[in-house]
Amino acid sequence: MELLEQLNHAQKEAVISTEGYIRVIAGAGSGKTRALSTRFAYLVNGLGIMPGHILCVTFTNKSANEMRQRIHALTGDNDTGYINTFHGFCVSVLQEDSHAVQYPKNFLVLDNSDIDDMLKIIYEERGLSLRDMTFSSARDMFEIRKLFEEPEYYLDMLTMPLETLKDKYDQATEVKDILFYGYLYQEKKCFGLDYNDLIKFTLYIFRENPDIKLKWQKRLEYIMIDEFQDIDSLQYELMEVLAGYHKNLFIVGDPDQTIYTWRGANVKYLLDFDQNFPSVKTIMMNDNYRSTPQILYAVNSLIDKNRYRIKKDLLPTIAEGESVLCHLAPNTTEEADWITGEILVLKGLGVQYKDITILYRAHYVTRTIEEGLMKEKIPYTIYSGVQFFGRTEIKDALCYLRMLVYRDDISFRRIANVPKRNLGKRRMSFLEQYAADNKCSLYAALHENLDNELFKGTKAGKFIDLIEHFAASYEGLPVSEVLAKILNNSGYEEMLRTEGAQDRLDNLAELKQSVFEYETTCGEEVGLEDYLKHIALFTNADSDAGDQDKVRLMTVHAAKGLEFPYVFLCGMNEGIFPSRKVRTLEGMEEERRLAFVAMTRAQKRLFITEAGGNTFEGIPRYPSRFIMDIDPELLEFTEKPDDNMIKAVRKFIDNDSRHLKGAEKLNLLEKGQRVKHAILGIGTVLDINLDEESYLIKFDEMDTPRQISMKVNLAKED
Ligand code: ATP
Ligand code: MG
Repeated sequence: MELLEQLNHAQKEAVISTEGYIRVIAGAGSGKTRALSTRFAYLVNGLGIMPGHILCVTFTNKSANEMRQRIHALTGDNDTGYINTFHGFCVSVLQEDSHAVQYPKNFLVLDNSDIDDMLKIIYEERGLSLRDMTFSSARDMFEIRKLFEEPEYYLDMLTMPLETLKDKYDQATEVKDILFYGYLYQEKKCFGLDYNDLIKFTLYIFRENPDIKLKWQKRLEYIMIDEFQDIDSLQYELMEVLAGYHKNLFIVGDPDQTIYTWRGANVKYLLDFDQNFPSVKTIMMNDNYRSTPQILYAVNSLIDKNRYRIKKDLLPTIAEGESVLCHLAPNTTEEADWITGEILVLKGLGVQYKDITILYRAHYVTRTIEEGLMKEKIPYTIYSGVQFFGRTEIKDALCYLRMLVYRDDISFRRIANVPKRNLGKRRMSFLEQYAADNKCSLYAALHENLDNELFKGTKAGKFIDLIEHFAASYEGLPVSEVLAKILNNSGYEEMLRTEGAQDRLDNLAELKQSVFEYETTCGEEVGLEDYLKHIALFTNADSDAGDQDKVRLMTVHAAKGLEFPYVFLCGMNEGIFPSRKVRTLEGMEEERRLAFVAMTRAQKRLFITEAGGNTFEGIPRYPSRFIMDIDPELLEFTEKPDDNMIKAVRKFIDNDSRHLKGAEKLNLLEKGQRVKHAILGIGTVLDINLDEESYLIKFDEMDTPRQISMKVNLAKED
């Protein structure tokens, strides 16, 4: 069969093993996804299975779309069956069968902002404030109660009439109950379902309605799941139910690419698959068809530093290519300039922009990169997120600055009531009317009406004072200082802190950094007006010119499963990648797997960059340990790193690693090792107690052995 010709032996086996439980464990770029999509085509074209009887689960919507296109190209059929994420598939089930739980077909799928809107109503109705609980902790609380603490609440929620739910809400006295029942009431009132509900609800319908369950089980003759290393317990449960009738389940995964344990994924489902299902056939694939040997040797050397893994190397099949190029820039602007320079060189060599992708760990890193690209007029597009200067908090912050200079209506509308100053819709429409009648700005309207009864009990006066104070004093001050102060004095940052919005605070810190850099590059005399004019270039930038030949920017998480000819992995600094939030050994290993995922996306050439200097807060920046993990022989440096710098970096990283929770386990001493204790002297390790995290040591000068904590420094003595 023609289809099979483009596959290696192991892949062919995966494709033609259509019956029973099949597991593929293989490394990045070894053709797992290709085998999976060919298998789909084989089932349809070879066996004559109807596409509507196949379920193919992918990890992201983007990969589902790509898969649909591949299948369509392979089968030529428009009906591509169920190719979707778990959540997307559940929406299909619910659209067909939610009547079984008295929900209409056109139920709403709620996202976080919908949930927040409902929360706003509840907070207002019950006089709660963010001090009682932030929105994000409320959402977390719902998730925990729904998934773990009270999974049976669905029974209540569904069998209870809406009024009963309302009563429960009215009678609740504790904040967490008020919010929980209030939210359930709101959900049911609008027939909404949030992300957590989709899978739970589907399982609930199956449990309560065996006939519906059997219908789906019978319909899904073949089930295939990609990226199985990141499946969580709920998805696993759903999969078990769905495969329970035909028992044809095909899964593929790579333990080295587990990057969602923070969201409940567990690689044990992949590793223990053969113990949980009968006569599982396991297929391994070793050859990599994606990347040059240079890239593979570097990533092998990186992932080899993980302790908790089954050792396996990616083997190249592609011809030699170019070196992995690493650039250590003096600061972030120069890092961005270097990247844009290299992109222009590639372009000159005939590479298209769309074959170039820039990957990063955290969204805020894009700011300098975007500026660099804009400066050179290189078209780009951001996946998985909003362009830096389009982000809410950045626009808000700039509007505060604009208010000081222009007091314009656009800025006023944006920030007058952010944070909340009790200037809601009613008062705003009064101001709009007044401003129209008197041909003045909204700001002037507010100023003139401060004594009006309508504005009693609001913080309008405070707002005016704030703007007036800064407007009178900003001249002569560095813009960065004005920005930092106004974000603080206005209560804006405080608002984000109570909301627990760390990502948005990070973005603001990055904005301050950008203002600071602008000042230092332009000299002392740059004023607020100059800055606002300069920044308008970025905020007005045309985000979609319709031209598809663009450089792509995305986070590493969003790049999972994809591949790109040229990859720039930027912001490879300690504190960014690995993220400074990582404080455990397990977390650090996951972070290293994430770096591995990032680097294995590259096909032809991989570029790695970082920037030195200091952060805005004055903390020195170090190159990421993931650069240091790679055997230096396998990297080409644009400039040989200074030995003293390398020493300082190693010292920093060693020290940081030692403070990770669980790090003691890394440098275990062996039994029989002679050690020196600072006070007790020289002794021999007799035993290792991992649970207690201690060593049993017999010191030469003592008659009986002692349990000594692993936290104590014990130098090896030979
Ligand atoms: P990841 O773990 O990153 O998801 P993967 O194992 O799913 O990787 P694929 O995306 O299926 O890998 O394949 C990687 C690349 O290798 C793709 O460009 C694919 O077309 C190509 N490829 C896969 N198998 C073969 C083969 N047998 N011969 C030639 N090229 C192949
Ligand atoms: Mg894949």
